[in-house]
Amino acid sequence: MSVMQKIARRSAADVVRELDADVPLICLRPEELRKKARAFVESFPGDVLYAVKCNPDAEVLKHLGEGGVTHFDAASMTEIRQVRSVFPDAVIHFMHPIKARSAIRSAYFEHGVRDFVLDSFAELNKILAETKNAADLVLVVRLAMPKGQAVYDLSGKFGAAPNDAAALLKACAKVAAKVGISFHVGSQCVDPAAYERALDLTGQVLEQSGVALDVLDVGGGFPVAYADVVPPPLSHFFAAIARGVAKLDLPAQCRLWCEPGRALVAEGQSVVVQVQAKKGGALYINDGVYGTLSDAGAAVGLRFPVRVIAQGAARRQGRLRAFEFFGPTCDSADRMRGPFLLPSDIQVGDWIEIGQVGAYGRVLSTGFNGFDEILRATVDDRPPVEEVGAVLVPLKSVRAA
Ligand SMILES: *Cc1c(COP(=O)(O)O)cnc(C)c1O
Repeated sequence: MSVMQKIARRSAADVVRELDADVPLICLRPEELRKKARAFVESFPGDVLYAVKCNPDAEVLKHLGEGGVTHFDAASMTEIRQVRSVFPDAVIHFMHPIKARSAIRSAYFEHGVRDFVLDSFAELNKILAETKNAADLVLVVRLAMPKGQAVYDLSGKFGAAPNDAAALLKACAKVAAKVGISFHVGSQCVDPAAYERALDLTGQVLEQSGVALDVLDVGGGFPVAYADVVPPPLSHFFAAIARGVAKLDLPAQCRLWCEPGRALVAEGQSVVVQVQAKKGGALYINDGVYGTLSDAGAAVGLRFPVRVIAQGAARRQGRLRAFEFFGPTCDSADRMRGPFLLPSDIQVGDWIEIGQVGAYGRVLSTGFNGFDEILRATVDDRPPVEEVGAVLVPLKSVRAA
């Protein structure tokens, strides 16, 4: 059983100072979530669908809603129910190309979902059968992507090849109220041109099918900064999309959609972990690959930004050096090579705030080995973002001041 405790404080360091526990702490930053949501909603020339899988936490959803997000990209019934429980009136889009029959029925008849993604004729037949050939469907064909430059390459799993997509689109146009094309360039895509290439491919499919498009969905994949990567600003991605769309000569009624996950929520949560042992350049911390830090493990190897929060009155003033982290479980795969730059005099008992974990963080935790306790707090200081290294927090002196 995980322990959830709500502590409202100002900064992550404030919370840590008064923490009477030595379990990891998730820090939620509502204003960061609202800011990111506003930036997307105000700058993207269409509908912004939040990709719920990235972080389905009810508070996260609520703050994105406060920032103006009203559309949600869901992939399962649990996600649909979660969105409905927070937003009874939200527009929910069912964007998984392969759905359970019961999920299609329940989404359509109980949750008012009308938009369904598909990448095969088999799925088209399934959707038609389970919605009893509904006349108000919006069917969106997912286009397969060639290998791109994203950290996670999704080209192998979903999507129809251009010829198949054109045929499927034509078939959809005969039965659906509206039709669309979607793609996903892959998560943490740092190259704006990837969207233009995907839009060129979309153009080929449109030409081949001769179908007038009602929806063009450019997917997610918008990147965020990590310790070693500062991607181009969002505006460059939106400009690339605008250039690609302009070449398509779309019907005036065509809506543009995007499905950001990571870019909306990464900054909205950090995790504060405690150093429980130090062996040379290795720090043993109380959260890891089976907890909030899955993407810091071998498979992805993200270098999250870090800063130290020293215990008591101490200041850590050593030169920055590279550390690797080990998580709390007994599996030797629970290892995060980083490197994470922290003061060399960091000590057992010190805390480390690890930023940018709002996306694909806690949602991927397993509870393996019994390390599932987590505290939660809401804070409003600046999150650790791309800045490499340490911000020293003189705890007792802050308190005395
Ligand atoms: C995961 C996913 C997203 C969100 O991706 P991010 O990289 O987090 O923006 C959007 N669309 C689809 C179809 C996805 O599978």
